[in-house]
Amino acid sequence: MDSFAAKIIRWQEKHGRHHLPWQHTRDPYAIWLSEIMLQQTQVNTVIPYYQRFLQSFPDIRRLALASLDDVLARWSGLGYYSRGRNLHRAARLIVSNYQGKFPESAEIIRKLPGIGRSTGAAIAVFAYGERCAILDGNVKRVLARCFGLEGYPGDKRNETLFWRKAEELLPTSQAAATKGSNEDINGLVETYTQALMDLGATVCTRSKPKCSLCPLQQDCVAFRHDRIDKLPSPRPRKLLPMKETILMMLMNEGRVFLEKRPLEGLWGGLWCLPEMAVGGNTMEHCRGRLGLELDSPVQVPMEPFDHTFTHFRLRIYPQLLRVSLLSSTPVRDPGTGIWTTPEDALQAAIPAPVRKLLTTMRVSS
Ligand code: SF4
Repeated sequence: MDSFAAKIIRWQEKHGRHHLPWQHTRDPYAIWLSEIMLQQTQVNTVIPYYQRFLQSFPDIRRLALASLDDVLARWSGLGYYSRGRNLHRAARLIVSNYQGKFPESAEIIRKLPGIGRSTGAAIAVFAYGERCAILDGNVKRVLARCFGLEGYPGDKRNETLFWRKAEELLPTSQAAATKGSNEDINGLVETYTQALMDLGATVCTRSKPKCSLCPLQQDCVAFRHDRIDKLPSPRPRKLLPMKETILMMLMNEGRVFLEKRPLEGLWGGLWCLPEMAVGGNTMEHCRGRLGLELDSPVQVPMEPFDHTFTHFRLRIYPQLLRVSLLSSTPVRDPGTGIWTTPEDALQAAIPAPVRKLLTTMRVSS
């Protein structure tokens, strides 16, 4: 009987994806970039960003030499900016610790900033043909359904079991020898890994999986027991703590004021609307924190909204203030605070809620 690996490899060769821009290269830098961009973003969205990013920063050294601002500007619109920050940090580490040469084993790759075990393994498989297992969200879903693995896969104990399963399923040298093709074990692991990714992304999707097209249908526990919508088990419901903040949209002659966030902490290194604690005094905050002397600002009411992070929710009270500046206002260092048009602001590296506010304002003005 065919093994799990043999089934999905055969399926991949016929029905998998073969023409993505990051396939057919052994360049670990290009593969690394694609894996990071794909972590929280769909393939079709990633492709143009990937191509533009590679044009701007074609290799590790050029990325390491670039300023973080330039890197985040090329990341603008992709979201989850910590990925861009970590990419930049890792490039500098590779240049300083590995003479600019990308490390060649999954064990070392996974320790670089923003990579981790599954992404490190994917890079090692595609760049060096190393035999190691991946376990991203798509793979967890396929394994949970196919083998009826219960329990939330993000939980440490369950995750260990998922990893064990993922490793068990890797093709063996024996499988390579009996496959009767020219592929050696390295090539087989590469096709297998791509197969898992493709199956999770195109067939065993989160909702409405296309089981009739799936090479695993006959053995799939979830399919046989009608548990597809129950697996993988969802994250146990936990009420996230709620925090509150004010985001100030200061508008002066068609320009909005943006502040550069410190590198550490929430939205690190991004351009942001100035933040003020709920209950704070606008005039005092502008004078004391922002160095802006305002002349009788006009406040326009706006609806609060919530933004969810992994560990908390943030209730944002937007404050749209049409302001004139007193001539005594000192000029800000353009590296930390700028007046810019909403259109230009939307091109910069800004957090999602700021993008939302600026877009709403542009539509309504
Ligand atoms: S049969 Fe359906 S649920 Fe099972 S692995 Fe295939 S696509 Fe997923």
